[in-house]
Amino acid sequence: MILPKSNRLTNEQLAEITQIVEGFSCRIQPIVGTVRTIYAIVGDERDDLMMTRLEGLSYVDRIDKIQSPFKLMDKRSDLATHSIQLGNVTLGEELLVIAGQCTIDPKNPNFLYETAAAVKEAGAQVLRGGVWKPRTNPYAFQGDAKSLDILMEAHRRTGLPVDAEVMDEQQLQLALDAGVHMLQVGARNALNYSLLRSIGRAVADRNTVVLLKRSLHMGTLNEFLSAAEYIASFGNPNILLCPRGTSPTLDGYRNHPDESITPLLKEKTWAPVVVDPSHSVGKAVYVPACALAAVAYGADGLCIETHVQPTKGIGDDPKQALTPEVLAETITQAKNLWSLLRSSKQEAKA
Ligand code: PEP
Ligand code: MN
Repeated sequence: MILPKSNRLTNEQLAEITQIVEGFSCRIQPIVGTVRTIYAIVGDERDDLMMTRLEGLSYVDRIDKIQSPFKLMDKRSDLATHSIQLGNVTLGEELLVIAGQCTIDPKNPNFLYETAAAVKEAGAQVLRGGVWKPRTNPYAFQGDAKSLDILMEAHRRTGLPVDAEVMDEQQLQLALDAGVHMLQVGARNALNYSLLRSIGRAVADRNTVVLLKRSLHMGTLNEFLSAAEYIASFGNPNILLCPRGTSPTLDGYRNHPDESITPLLKEKTWAPVVVDPSHSVGKAVYVPACALAAVAYGADGLCIETHVQPTKGIGDDPKQALTPEVLAETITQAKNLWSLLRSSKQEAKA
């Protein structure tokens, strides 16, 4: 990773370092941070001669050689000071709450409009709404591109940034063209490296945020962080890591709750952790406790399925969506806990 003396390199300087690294079969990927741009060397950066030539350039401050399979997502990376902005929220400065329907019902758009207003009122800062759905049963409702218009209309009505899952390049392009603010990579696709690459490439020059779910079968944390690295390596580091329960399930819950991995993730990465308690436990009655546990474990945010009338919802909503009333109570408790933990951390530092 090359750190220039100035906030960013000039075009001539960039051309010069590009020429040097290309001579060693590497390429340069600029990563535009909030304050300055850093330049990742993509490829095998172990060649001493390449490093010496780069270090010799007058405009290079230093070169960080992080030996990590996820050098951009690594806590030691210069991206550790990068802050992610979503709507009015800066991650880490307040608890982020993403809430909304599992699945948008294209036949009943008013449910999403009402849900959007209700989750905003309850204190959520981002609206989620499934447009295309990964369904185990191939005959189940797979989603509908028409729902994208409904989602964007809900954004216009409330001003909330919106989050939707994309599963292929066509959906990705439609979502970006429509102006979706946050793209969700679902648990089933978190190990789909070609999709991760396509998303990374497509968001490289945008402010779009990616919510990367933890795969159902992701064993190691390195596997999770390497999946995030796939996206970041194209230049946009706005990635939120989302534990959402794994398989095999804990008898009684939908998955095996995994919010407890948050402190372990935070030892390895700077990326914010946004836990999804809804898919983790899979039943509305268990969701609030799981959400609070996630905050206790240090989560920076929560992603909670919510519907104004869960029983009339589709997809996961009838079983796991909270009502706006329960969401409001959960958000109040979660924000109180988040503030309490933050102030005791600050006291300990003082
Ligand atoms: C969802 O968010 O509705 C969803 C399908 O999530 P996951 O990919 O975590 O199963
Ligand atoms: Mn769902």
